[in-house]
Amino acid sequence: MGVKIDRAILKKNTSETITAQKYTKSEHGDVLCPDRRCLCPLSHVSTSTRNVKNKRTGKTKQVQVDSFFRLPSSSKKTGKTHSLRCRYNGDPVLEKQVAMSQEIKKLGEDIEPLLVGGGKKVAEYRLHILMEIIRASYTKFKSENDGDGDDGDDKFSGYRYVRSQKHLKPFIKSAKAILSFISRIGDKNELSRMIALRYGESSISWNDFLFKNDEHEALYRYLVEHKQFAYAPGRNRPVAVVLKLKQTPAKETQFGDLQIEAVSTECSDGERTFLIRPMIFIEDHSLMNAIRKHKHILVCAVPTTEMLNEPANPKYRPSVRIKMKVIDRHQFCAFPMQR
Ligand SMILES: [Zn+2]
Repeated sequence: MGVKIDRAILKKNTSETITAQKYTKSEHGDVLCPDRRCLCPLSHVSTSTRNVKNKRTGKTKQVQVDSFFRLPSSSKKTGKTHSLRCRYNGDPVLEKQVAMSQEIKKLGEDIEPLLVGGGKKVAEYRLHILMEIIRASYTKFKSENDGDGDDGDDKFSGYRYVRSQKHLKPFIKSAKAILSFISRIGDKNELSRMIALRYGESSISWNDFLFKNDEHEALYRYLVEHKQFAYAPGRNRPVAVVLKLKQTPAKETQFGDLQIEAVSTECSDGERTFLIRPMIFIEDHSLMNAIRKHKHILVCAVPTTEMLNEPANPKYRPSVRIKMKVIDRHQFCAFPMQR
């Protein structure tokens, strides 16, 4: 599978990087893979247009395909391809993860794998299966505990994870697979070309799933738009978020959880400025220590937020929290991933 790459290193001066948009052969000469562990030769593909047919209306529309770098077509013959450790060497990672996700079959024959190798070599991460497993096991957990499982109100589902190893494992495995893939490829366009995210009947775009460190405001607005609030999440939307952790000690909440705060973002909604404060909640000290080893981490979780309110004390600036519960070490990794 050929990975599209948006920038490359100049062969004549390897300290210099060029974007695919600005590249010209006559000016820049030969180019190399931007992963410094790799540096294999690449070739350039110029901007082009492509006709895309709308399946419903039957109308054809012309779309622009941005320029990019890729392996030259001769790479199969010459063997000059991405190194095994190169982040643009997508194939083996994808194949391994597709194989791994087959484990979900152990839970039931009817369950589809979280990740399948598609016909066009697009892997599908089926987020809805992941969330349904959590919901099913939570309902069971709830009815066993208070004998009241039929109130039809699944307000905690997908927000509170269940401590059942049997149900948790497939979720954690797919979280890990998604994280390692994001961490290696990172580029949203590239990810969306290789992986489709499904949620129920609809597909989730990478823009609604992966939020980089400078996109916390977009994440907050997304959660508000879908009413994914604490204690009453509207829908269970898993996301992957990059966080820069504050180097302050974890606090203990009134419920006995440990709380690790990430660096906040200052935002403005036109009238006032406010802070977005992402935080991770964990129950266990060894997990806390594992998280705090990292400065930048990528977390896969089902976040919730709250509406923006004026603080009771005018001395403080208004702020909103984005809360993420982490119950397993496979829900997070260093970003970019260290290998
Ligand atoms: Zn490479």
